[in-house]
Amino acid sequence: MNTIKTDILIIGAGLTGLTLAYYLKNLNISFKITEARPTIGGRIKTKYNTNQAPIELGATWLIEQQVAAIKLLKELNIRVFKQYYGKTAIYQPNQMQAAQLVKLPKTMQ
Ligand SMILES: Cc1cc2nc3c(=O)[nH]c(=O)nc-3n(C[C@H](O)[C@H](O)[C@H](O)COP(=O)(O)OP(=O)(O)OC[C@H]3O[C@@H](n4cnc5c(N)ncnc54)[C@H](O)[C@@H]3O)c2cc1C
Repeated sequence: MNTIKTDILIIGAGLTGLTLAYYLKNLNISFKITEARPTIGGRIKTKYNTNQAPIELGATWLIEQQVAAIKLLKELNIRVFKQYYGKTAIYQPNQMQAAQLVKLPKTMQ
């Protein structure tokens, strides 16, 4: 078993841990961060495919009320963009039912 000597130990390199690490680093406060999985990001997961747009398998959408996240994205120069909606969407209520094509309301288009 490894021993980590530090005043501040952040457990988990998901959004929370990494955000805390970012703010502590900005304040020149030293810390250590530990992550159980081989990758960082936690429940944020982007799948990169060859010759295809990347697919988000975790956190994807933001709403205006997520002010702290929006502030952080701006600070890090990470671009956000509006969700594009067409006139229809594929909707599958559950795995036992077939997917169906539904018309989206005008307010979403
Ligand atoms: C499919 C999916 C879609 C989502 N979509 C959205 C969305 O559109 N918009 C949105 O705002 N949110 C969305 N979320 C939620 C969002 O992903 C989470 O709220 C956010 O990522 C949580 O971050 P976190 O750092 O708090 O936790 P996590 O991301 O869970 O990070 C915790 C980290 O701690 C690590 N860990 C746990 N225990 C230990 C330990 N003992 N030692 C070391 N490491 C440990 C874990 O491995 C993990 O990496 C979605 C989540 C999922 C699963």
